Amino acid sequence: MSVTDKESHSYPWGHERRFNAYSNYFRSIYGARVQKVSIDAGFTCPNRDGTSGYGGCTYCNNNAFNPSYCIPEKSVSQQIREGIEFHKRRYTEAVSYLAYFQAFSNTYAPIDILIKIYQEALSYPGVKGLIIGTRPDCIDEEKLDYIKGLSERYYIAVEYGIESCYNKTLSRINRGHTFEDAVSAVERTAGLGINTGAHFIFGLPGETRKEMLDEAGIISKLPLKTVKFHQLQIIKGTAMEKEFLNNPSDFELFEWEEYLDFFIRFLERLNPSIVVERFTGEAPPRFLTSERWGKKRTDQIVNLIEKRLEELDTWQGRLYEG
Ligand code: SF4
Repeated sequence: MSVTDKESHSYPWGHERRFNAYSNYFRSIYGARVQKVSIDAGFTCPNRDGTSGYGGCTYCNNNAFNPSYCIPEKSVSQQIREGIEFHKRRYTEAVSYLAYFQAFSNTYAPIDILIKIYQEALSYPGVKGLIIGTRPDCIDEEKLDYIKGLSERYYIAVEYGIESCYNKTLSRINRGHTFEDAVSAVERTAGLGINTGAHFIFGLPGETRKEMLDEAGIISKLPLKTVKFHQLQIIKGTAMEKEFLNNPSDFELFEWEEYLDFFIRFLERLNPSIVVERFTGEAPPRFLTSERWGKKRTDQIVNLIEKRLEELDTWQGRLYEG
């Protein structure tokens, strides 16, 4: 997987883009654009109710990334209907949808409740599958067995918030689980043939740039299908905001130009078989205490990263030591 065919500009993932892109991955499965539709099904989080911890992760404010149509008082079907309408106004192309259980921990409920919620989403016309966001400590064999059964009929992915490969960081941000817990959840999920994703944050306090770069090698060894990355943003009303305002020198937030250079170097070291869904995150400005990177939209950021890959004639996995 580490060799590119420079003559035809075809990379191990089978297209000409210089990274293993999520949108192309879905086109290769469905032959067309697939749109994710977010749902807030009213789940909670064990890191808030005392099961794993209290207070939640120090950076967390779910409102900062929940689309406006996602309100748990609305049924799953209604949220899907409104989500499809919302996306139709922006893109006309998508005809297939994935129900994205995004807010809080979407396996944190008894199995009979999960079955009811997931089945309601899967029975909505045009929904081809589920993306289930959750924590590494919110999954067990019974739930995995059920999800495995679903994955034989639909596109199903379980996405774990891992955030960092270092336990000192996970402890500092009050994640309430260790990196070993995350590895175990990823391995058990992928071991059943379920698409497994993970989410990581760059710029968390106490981590050096070198440690962040070294995560490429650690993540590359996990049996992940997809990954999402984003830069740390300080969100209003969080415990981290207080920490940041009290002691800003404790934080080394990425400026855009530094992040661009860092991310290219990271991508060069990342296993080319892992599909990359996001490079950055964007909380709405009204939630942000840290500074924005100008007014760049996600698609512009992707273009800038691809342009830089081209200028440097490099690509995902060029320095991967698999
Ligand atoms: S980031 Fe996820 S796991 Fe952490 S407190 Fe928020 S919902 Fe819970």
